[in-house]
Amino acid sequence: MTAAYTLGSLIYEGKAKRVFQTDRPELVAVEFKDDATAFNALKKAQLAGKGELNCQISARLFELLEREGVPTHYLGLQGRSWQVVKPVSIVPVEVVIRNVAAGSLCKQMPIAAGTPLEPPLLDLYYKDDAYGDPLLTDARLARLGLLTADQRAELERLAFRVNAVLRAFFAAIGLQLVDFKIELGFTAAGELVVADEISPDTCRLWDLQVADASDRILDKDRFRQDLGGVVEAYGEVLKRVQGACPEPRIYG
Ligand code: C5P
Repeated sequence: MTAAYTLGSLIYEGKAKRVFQTDRPELVAVEFKDDATAFNALKKAQLAGKGELNCQISARLFELLEREGVPTHYLGLQGRSWQVVKPVSIVPVEVVIRNVAAGSLCKQMPIAAGTPLEPPLLDLYYKDDAYGDPLLTDARLARLGLLTADQRAELERLAFRVNAVLRAFFAAIGLQLVDFKIELGFTAAGELVVADEISPDTCRLWDLQVADASDRILDKDRFRQDLGGVVEAYGEVLKRVQGACPEPRIYG
């Protein structure tokens, strides 16, 4: 079998992934790293196996979204910790949806952790580590000129649709989707698609079968709060996701 593409130069290295050009302009290769970071990279560690777990979880969730009609950048897996994706121009806005109060919301607002948020809360943040990813207001978003009104409406529509799909999917495998962050980008054809990754690094997931407030955490809060068992928790998420999803496709 001939290789589907040849790996080219590194385009971008983020905190959890490396993105490479390929010899085919319509394909980009993404490597998921074992690096764990939190608090804008003030806290760092190497967690052996994390990259592979996130890659495998994310592949299945992207395929799930696709089956539900949500466009994503994902094209297929390539090895245990690599994905082939469409090149996109990332919108520098982190889109967070919260179903239950946790994390920064409870630090910034008088809302107790664990409070159900119905309807879910959508928060937009300006994606720029140099500024500490600040919360965006409507006026600031308009001032930055990052999105037209129609594009913003589409971004919000997609984010709520992602929430509806993922929330129901996770509930069916005994996990509560507390909140998550997604990033979106424009393809060469101008379509807005979900990009980046969807994994326990970017979602808060609580085990519905566990009552203890620390023990039920199966996401990056285990790392942020020094609870230990980070890779084991991500492995449990993959095990359940695997049990409910078809094997993801291999690219090429
Ligand atoms: O920190 P905060 O509570 O606002 O995070 C909300 C959700 O977004 C969490 O699931 C968190 O893991 C995710 N997030 C992320 N990347 C960021 C900020 C938040 O994946 N830069």
